Amino acid sequence: MVQPRQILIAGGGIGGLAAALACRRAGWEVRLAERADAFGEIGAGVQLGPNAMRCLAAWGLEAPVRTVACFPERLRVHRAGDGAELATLGLGAALAGRYGAPYATIHRADLHRVLLDAVQALPGVQLHLGQELTQWEQDSMAVTARVRHDDGVEVETQADALLGADGLRSRVRSVLLGDDAVHPAGHLAYRAVAAQRSLPARLRSQDVTVWLGPHLHVVHYPLRGGELLNLVAICHGRPPSDLVHWDHAAHADDVRALLSGACTELRDRVGALAQSGGVWRLWPLLERPPVAAPEEMARGLVALLGDAAHPMRPYLAQGAGMALEDAAELQQALAMDALDVPLRLRRYALNRWQRVARVQRRSRRNGGIFHATGALRVARDASLRLLGGHLLDLPWLYAGGPAVPPDAGASVN
Ligand SMILES: Cc1cc2nc3c(=O)[nH]c(=O)nc-3n(C[C@H](O)[C@H](O)[C@H](O)COP(=O)(O)OP(=O)(O)OC[C@H]3O[C@@H](n4cnc5c(N)ncnc54)[C@H](O)[C@@H]3O)c2cc1C
Repeated sequence: MVQPRQILIAGGGIGGLAAALACRRAGWEVRLAERADAFGEIGAGVQLGPNAMRCLAAWGLEAPVRTVACFPERLRVHRAGDGAELATLGLGAALAGRYGAPYATIHRADLHRVLLDAVQALPGVQLHLGQELTQWEQDSMAVTARVRHDDGVEVETQADALLGADGLRSRVRSVLLGDDAVHPAGHLAYRAVAAQRSLPARLRSQDVTVWLGPHLHVVHYPLRGGELLNLVAICHGRPPSDLVHWDHAAHADDVRALLSGACTELRDRVGALAQSGGVWRLWPLLERPPVAAPEEMARGLVALLGDAAHPMRPYLAQGAGMALEDAAELQQALAMDALDVPLRLRRYALNRWQRVARVQRRSRRNGGIFHATGALRVARDASLRLLGGHLLDLPWLYAGGPAVPPDAGASVN
């Protein structure tokens, strides 16, 4: 009997866990090394477009996601200064009908847990905490990696392929591409989550709502069946000097000062969120130029996925979505048993690089539009008022991505 091939995955975030699931479903054995000593995600939300939800559904995860996610009915866009509504897009049944899956908002910890439960239910997947990939090299047959355990001991291990799902400061990437470090985008994100019932009734919200500029924008949406409200405020600003420890406790006063020129509803919501015990965290946003060639996503027996491959500004809310799409594409490529492994990974990269580059570029451009001032801002507001839903609906994004087959159960035993 032919031995299943083995892939080593560095990183157990949303991308790494989705990849573990996908690779196993492609018939590969999986060893995942996560350097943190516990699996977990920080307390904030993510939006998942229909393109991302289709991937989760293909892995049989729509039902568990439904128990913890929200499915907002509307995306509303307002001007932050006077609160005027500029445009809306229906996100409910009509959008789900158009794209074959709904638009969801979900707590990152809940999404992580759904993926972790699915991975842990599969035989043939080994998950290792407290293991950091420090070095690797490849020849034509195998990848040899060094993994440092949390007691400091370094162990050498071999696999048929290596996947870097190790995030913004990917070690797999730095050895593969030898490129520069990820750099600050010049924007800061403040995030907080609060219980909706702790807010005055008029400040609770079950929609995805975006408040635009100038020089900043705010997004809020419900999480966990509507019990929680997630709020993100993004502004221009210099990151703290210590970029390595990039999740900083942030003061509610900074956010209030940032929004001092905003309309009453937005200021009240932000104030109430702080009073209700919502804790603000601060992220300097980091990025790289858009992927420019398939070789930036795979070479030989080594591939990159998620933020390791294509970190992006969060203005299309698609970073995690692209990681899920990467994993779904990788599953199809790895399942092509007639091809050599480098050809399978090359196929993965060829099918992904232009789409993720487009999403990176559009995310960047959206930031300019969201934060516009002067004539651009006037033109933006007029276009949104005139074309509203047409501008907010993104068929190329929501209908695109890997052509995932409907869930047919795992091909593993
Ligand atoms: C403000 C903000 C809002 C966002 N909103 C959205 C949204 O609405 N929708 C959306 O789709 N995306 C959103 N994103 C983007 C999304 O959060 C990321 O794209 C996604 O989480 C990336 O997942 P990942 O698994 O690739 O990387 P990570 O989550 O960074 O995971 C990498 C993992 O690798 C581990 N690791 C690192 N180095 C090593 C090593 N050498 N060895 C072993 N393990 C290692 C880390 O500990 C970590 O667990 C947002 C991002 C920000 C900053």
